Amino acid sequence: MSSRRDRDDFTTATQYSPCEESGGQRCSNPECGRGTSGPHSDADRAVNLGIAAHITAASPGGPRFDPALSPESRSSLENGIWLCYICAAKIDRDEVRYPTLLGN
Ligand SMILES: [Zn+2]
Repeated sequence: MSSRRDRDDFTTATQYSPCEESGGQRCSNPECGRGTSGPHSDADRAVNLGIAAHITAASPGGPRFDPALSPESRSSLENGIWLCYICAAKIDRDEVRYPTLLGN
């Protein structure tokens, strides 16, 4: 496992932007489209079931890592896609089935 310092993670602002862009809490995988906001026992809150995933990995050795990208590009919104946790896990564990095309 690489340390956090080696990763070009999204900033907090970028993490939430893909969520807003997707029009309110839906997985961006066209085969899924699952809502990524679930009910919470507190009516004023929601359980977040989504994640801002990297289209190309944040660190060397990660899924679909692209060494040609600058750290800025890697952590920019253009390299992010809003996914439910299930799709994020599926996509990161099968690079052959899920190449970077999903984000384009
Ligand atoms: Zn999904």
